[in-house]
Amino acid sequence: LQENLTKAEGYLDHFKHGVVANRIGGEDVAAADGATFETLSPIDLKPLARVARGSAADIDHAARAAKSAFAEWAAMPGTTRKKLLHKIADAIVARAEEIAFVECMDTGQALKFMAKAALRGAENFRFFADRAPEARDGKSLRAEGQFNVTTRVPIGPVGIITPWNTPFMLSTWKIAPALAAGCTVVHKPAEFSPLTARLLVEIAEEAGLPKGVWNLVNGFGEDAGRALTEHPLIKAIGFVGESRTGAMIMRQGAETLKRVHFELGGKNPVIVFADADLERAADAAVFMIYSLNGERCTSSSRLLVETSIYEKFTALIAEKASRIKVGHPLDPETVVGPIIHPEHEKKVLDYIAIGQAEGAKVAAGGTKVEGPGGGCYVAPTLFTAANNRMRIAQEEIFGPVLTAIPFADEDEALSLANDVQYGLAGYLWTSDLGRALRFTDALEAGMIWVNSENVRHLPTPFGGVKNSGIGRDGGDWSFDFYMETKNIAFAT
Ligand code: NAD
Repeated sequence: LQENLTKAEGYLDHFKHGVVANRIGGEDVAAADGATFETLSPIDLKPLARVARGSAADIDHAARAAKSAFAEWAAMPGTTRKKLLHKIADAIVARAEEIAFVECMDTGQALKFMAKAALRGAENFRFFADRAPEARDGKSLRAEGQFNVTTRVPIGPVGIITPWNTPFMLSTWKIAPALAAGCTVVHKPAEFSPLTARLLVEIAEEAGLPKGVWNLVNGFGEDAGRALTEHPLIKAIGFVGESRTGAMIMRQGAETLKRVHFELGGKNPVIVFADADLERAADAAVFMIYSLNGERCTSSSRLLVETSIYEKFTALIAEKASRIKVGHPLDPETVVGPIIHPEHEKKVLDYIAIGQAEGAKVAAGGTKVEGPGGGCYVAPTLFTAANNRMRIAQEEIFGPVLTAIPFADEDEALSLANDVQYGLAGYLWTSDLGRALRFTDALEAGMIWVNSENVRHLPTPFGGVKNSGIGRDGGDWSFDFYMETKNIAFAT
């Protein structure tokens, strides 16, 4: 840990000299009104850096820069864009350690996972780089006396708004396809963890991305974020964040008929039948709720367990949860680091109190933990004796808190699983193939894993149903969002 702390200090030095500026048209730019904000480390609540706090004037500046760069970027051959995006991926790999360390310090996420997340960011660039040359491909459709050709063109400058939980990886996941499609970008990262977004835009420009293709404006949701969603030059908003923010963005973007793509919250069920491989199911359930501090949209925050194995299975989970290492995010052994911010820690602890008041039983954790630095550490928590009507079973807590509910049979399991406003992911554990087919067919979720934790295959669609989102990312789905489809009819 000591060695990692020394390294982290060196990497954070990058942000210590003056204010972390916005990046507009390839230049460092202070906020038009000179405003700034501090980003705190959740480890000790000390400021890591002072950051430019952009508002409507800065967003306007960035949107104009993105518009000026658009024609040339959109006209660049896909093969050239492909090479450039691969260069960005190479540069991410070269600076992966720096990215991971800064991410851990800014978000409190454990190095164990952030080291992989930095490399996944590079993979996101490579994945979309390889598809850039074909992004415009369409179909040909014959009719009597007519030959139709469809093609796709980039929609224009787009706005990307990202959350604080794993900001680096999520930014690459949204921005790489936009660039591959030929769009220019204005990115507004989350105010709780803005630092790696700044590294990312620097890396992209150093790798040769033309000025103005990617612009970064830091600031708060209610001013910079809002202005981005309302700006007439911005043609679409790719948003990752809370469901109620998605609803606000839809309203804000209505006047300019903004195209929107939303990746929102979740209350994802893990459904465990008695015929499952229980040891594997328990490991996966534990991983899916407690890794990334439970601050993960696809986390398995509801555990639905067949009654006959409920006691035994929840005891297994409680035992595994109590052995999880909570600690400094830069300690290579840490699984659960500090929660992002005291405000969010309070929300998580409030939910633990609400669960107890509702009559659920704390079978593991349930308290704040005194961790290194004295920051926002919360013990991995398991609630048993819970039911689906409780708030801890219905609302997204976005922390290391799991609610276990028994079910009698397949019908009850399905009705409990679907009885929430969300529908992002679901995890089913059974050895009965017929049941797996029936169940996954009826489960209301955009992504379902059977006998597996969340393992992403990048060409598959990513996204949710119900209040968990609108639209899909991944493969060609991303291009459908960032591009307009055009039909040209030739008379024969
Ligand atoms: P949030 O909605 O509070 O903020 C997300 C971003 O939106 C931030 O950059 C914020 O500044 C901005 N914002 C806030 N108000 C805005 C407004 N009125 N107009 C424009 N922008 C605005 O979310 P959060 O707390 O940062 O992140 C946690 C949430 O993100 C959870 O609900 C989680 O499930 C969700 N999430 C979803 C996915 C997914 O892929 N589905 C992935 C990660 C996180």
